[in-house]
Amino acid sequence: MTAPLPFRALVITRGDDKTTRVELRTDLTTDDLARSSDAGADVLVDVEYSGLNYKDGMALAGDPGVMRSTPLIPGIDLVGTVASAPHGSPWNVGDQVVLTGWGIGETHNGGLSERASVNGDWLVALPSGMTARRAAAIGTAGFTAALAVLALERNGLDPSTAGDVLVTGASGGVGSIAIALLAAAGYRVVASTGRPEQRDYLLGLGATDTIARSELEVAGRPLQSQRWAGVIDSVGGQTLATALAQTTYDGTVAACGLVGGAGLPTTVLPFILRGVTLAGINSVECPMPLRLAAWERLNSDLDVELLDSLTTSIPLAEVPAAGEKILAGQLRGRTVVDVRA
Ligand code: NDP
Repeated sequence: MTAPLPFRALVITRGDDKTTRVELRTDLTTDDLARSSDAGADVLVDVEYSGLNYKDGMALAGDPGVMRSTPLIPGIDLVGTVASAPHGSPWNVGDQVVLTGWGIGETHNGGLSERASVNGDWLVALPSGMTARRAAAIGTAGFTAALAVLALERNGLDPSTAGDVLVTGASGGVGSIAIALLAAAGYRVVASTGRPEQRDYLLGLGATDTIARSELEVAGRPLQSQRWAGVIDSVGGQTLATALAQTTYDGTVAACGLVGGAGLPTTVLPFILRGVTLAGINSVECPMPLRLAAWERLNSDLDVELLDSLTTSIPLAEVPAAGEKILAGQLRGRTVVDVRA
């Protein structure tokens, strides 16, 4: 029997002293994947692209809330081609597939690798007509933005009647794609940013106006002037509390993230006096029918040239430095990782 061919991957290891080390390994084999993969990993994927999400930054920094096994190949997204699948699997060698979430890059080995061994039930087919790079540019962040838009619409948001829709953390991955999707559907979008120099970028994505992040960070009354028909929030903390206080009667706030904090200093008043809905978004365990609906929405509505314009590509070796930048709020839009570069 011939030895399995080696491939490259990033590997994070947590030592006994709780410090973590990130290495670019060039000597891994599928045996290494098998050792630490579980949960019925039965499909081998030749990965072409992964991406960098805020959560990947947290894993690379050794955050135990995300890096939940050691050693771990990080990367919560992957796009690639099926290299092998068991008899009876719906997947065949050569199928192009996308995987976001389901615990890869957290509990299970992830996509910042040239190969991945994953559970076939977690895969979706690369949407028709979409390139692998663009699917990775969307990744978890864009997928989450689509889930948030769908949640607002499930609760009655409609572009023909809606007022302004607020997007917080606007220059980031979730925020940028949320703006592009909402604008494509005809909503008026107000983008909240801590970086005034990104105003032209945000208007270019389709925002009608921008506001300063600091406006939403001020603690105020639990009910304020009604400004937002809907909100997509990546920030959490006081920003989310202020967004709830400013949402119009019967409006919906989709809570996606916590870059500004995991707390929520609010009261029940927006809910019981204004009928505001707080919709939680979880992209990781999202059930398959909703997953497919989100990818369909992204494939039909997202302007691919706009997507290209908000995407930066980096090779595997540059991921650790980019991980530090995403945690510092210094990246803009989406970062795709060409794992073979
Ligand atoms: P990014 O880093 O790409 O974007 C976050 C943006 O938030 C930044 O670009 C910045 O935008 C703003 N920001 C950064 N730091 C702060 C701060 N301290 N206070 C307020 N605003 C800040 O991250 P992602 O878009 O990938 O993820 C955003 C959040 O959503 C993360 O918390 C992530 O974990 C979460 N998430 C959750 C998912 C789910 O399933 N629920 C899935 C995907 C992401 P600007 O400079 O314009 O203000």
